[in-house]
Amino acid sequence: MAEDDYYTVVFHHGGVLVSEPHMEYIGGVVDSWANVDIDRILIPFVEWRFEELYGDNAKYKTVYWLDPGLEVKDGLRPLENDTDVRMLYSIVHEKAQNKEIHFYFEHEDEVEVIDGDSEDDDCGDSEDDVYKPRHEDEGGDSEDNEDDADDEDHEDDEDEIVVDIGSGTVGCSGNPMPKSKKPKKQKWRACNGRPRYPNIEDVQRPHEARNTVDDADDEGGYHSDQMGSIRGDSDDEGRYEIKPPQFNEAAPFGQVDLQLYMLFPTLKMLKQAVKDYTIALGRPVKQVKADKGRCKYTCEQGCDWNIFCSWAEVHGSYQIKTFNPTHTCSRKLKNHQATSKWVADKLVEFMRQVPDMTAVDAFKYMASTFQVRLADMKIYRAMRIAREVVEGSEKDQYEILMDYCMELLTSNAGSTVGIHVERPDLSFPAMFDRLYCCFDACKKGVLSGCCPLIGLDGCFLKGYYGGTLLVAVSQDGNHSFYVIAYVIAYAIIGQETKDTWSWFLTRLFEDIGHPKDVGCEFISDMQKGLLPAMEELAPGTKHRFCLRHLEVNIWNYWRIAELRNLLWDCARCLTMLEFEKKFLELKELSMLAWTYLNNLQHHNWTRVAFSTTSKNCALTNNMSKQFNAAIVKMRGKPIISMLEEIRVYLMNKMNKIRKQLTQYRGPITPAAQTKLEVAK
Ligand SMILES: [Zn+2]
Repeated sequence: MAEDDYYTVVFHHGGVLVSEPHMEYIGGVVDSWANVDIDRILIPFVEWRFEELYGDNAKYKTVYWLDPGLEVKDGLRPLENDTDVRMLYSIVHEKAQNKEIHFYFEHEDEVEVIDGDSEDDDCGDSEDDVYKPRHEDEGGDSEDNEDDADDEDHEDDEDEIVVDIGSGTVGCSGNPMPKSKKPKKQKWRACNGRPRYPNIEDVQRPHEARNTVDDADDEGGYHSDQMGSIRGDSDDEGRYEIKPPQFNEAAPFGQVDLQLYMLFPTLKMLKQAVKDYTIALGRPVKQVKADKGRCKYTCEQGCDWNIFCSWAEVHGSYQIKTFNPTHTCSRKLKNHQATSKWVADKLVEFMRQVPDMTAVDAFKYMASTFQVRLADMKIYRAMRIAREVVEGSEKDQYEILMDYCMELLTSNAGSTVGIHVERPDLSFPAMFDRLYCCFDACKKGVLSGCCPLIGLDGCFLKGYYGGTLLVAVSQDGNHSFYVIAYVIAYAIIGQETKDTWSWFLTRLFEDIGHPKDVGCEFISDMQKGLLPAMEELAPGTKHRFCLRHLEVNIWNYWRIAELRNLLWDCARCLTMLEFEKKFLELKELSMLAWTYLNNLQHHNWTRVAFSTTSKNCALTNNMSKQFNAAIVKMRGKPIISMLEEIRVYLMNKMNKIRKQLTQYRGPITPAAQTKLEVAK
């Protein structure tokens, strides 16, 4: 006989074969014999082996062999007659690359149920029964009983069927059965508390099982299909018992698997798993029973789906005791199981990848990835929770703001960073009031390369604590070609008042020099408190009012469309003659509007009166608006996250412009050159 014809025969027995929802062999144990001559694998061989396991005259109902390469759910073939045997030969020869043949025994229905209390003290609370062969009862049933195993070895020696994969000692090859192996009591046992374990078909082959289980344990987590477990007794090589599947905590959404008898370290983990599982299915469920040690869910729409989990003393963990996995109800997109906290957990990873995530992004992400539709408020709440996880809570960031500022000063020598705190008494803790920041690179850039026109603006912060961000922005000589905004400084304050603007401007003038000394002008939206502060700190400084802002004011007061056009015409005039003519037209159109404009200084709004030192004829405060628009998504973040993102934005912007301009060759800036070319 060629060596190729020797196979390892694996018997799955003691379990229950169920056909719903698909064919599955639940529970039982596995025995194997190596080096079996395939020609001997006939029906009598199988019967004889079964009797060895369960005693003389023991009968099974049906035995199935597993088509190699297939799974139990679709690969079981009955072995009842010679035709079946011939089919087994031909298929196994062709497909069983690993030289293994698996048999599954379906036991007789009539079993004598024996109370297991006397032998299995730890089997107390389960209603589940299991078929057990003789040697299972006497052999020390798991690694939990390792201490007992030695004591019982001698019993094993007497009663155990000797199975040695390595040596090839197999009964079917002609070795006589030891006389001592007479079966004792031929009874099926139903052990209270020893549950039937599912997915026996997924257990590794005997010779693989030991390594795989060890590896899985080393990794600290494993899938339920890696649950083969070698029994501790050295005489039992080749035999292993099936552990219940362990829940795989690392399973991604959509692949969370719940199975009957699955084990969970904590009840919280089970609840989370049920949540993921049911949301992925699109079937809302409700919790109908919950206390410290157990919980039960049923289908919200009233179908038969249900799951019950409670503490299993024998495994030292929580276990699914009953589970009907079949929903007959329809799928629903709204699922109240998807709570804000659950949504936040799912959003955290997405937020790390997309820091600028908006509510719309979050809604789309949840709908496409998790198939749930969420209400707006739930999205907002979840985003806030997720943001706190990702960026740390807003309050925590204020606590380390001083450290952050010190770090800024260390890494940006020459910069000005200052925090103003309120502390009425030394017994009070310092409370944040304002922050000012002006990077050395910005200072140098403005003084050496920007037009002396500085835009001032303030915008609201959208975080939990609110506040206002004041910015001073300037443009370089290429402003009309590249959108270039140099933020000279920014400050975070409670609200815009004369006091806060004074505080900001004082620091700004310290950094870039007093307007009278450097000859710079300002443009703003006439913010509250800004004009009095400016008048106090730098009286006589030319200050433009954003024409867009003036236009809105005039429209709000007089609602005359023609006035708006005339206002722009007047503002664009470059000669006094031209201006006076247009201004007269405006006067004829609306005397009140003319009076309003005439009360302003001409240099506040029309080019004809702008000084020539600014080298920038901007009528609007667009540079500030551009900067505000660029940081709009940063304005809702906790303070350090926002400051850091603004810093990175400025750094990238400067670097980009520097790279672009290093490639440019010419006496004047590209923007000015373009204008000249057009004017030629
Ligand atoms: Zn249902």
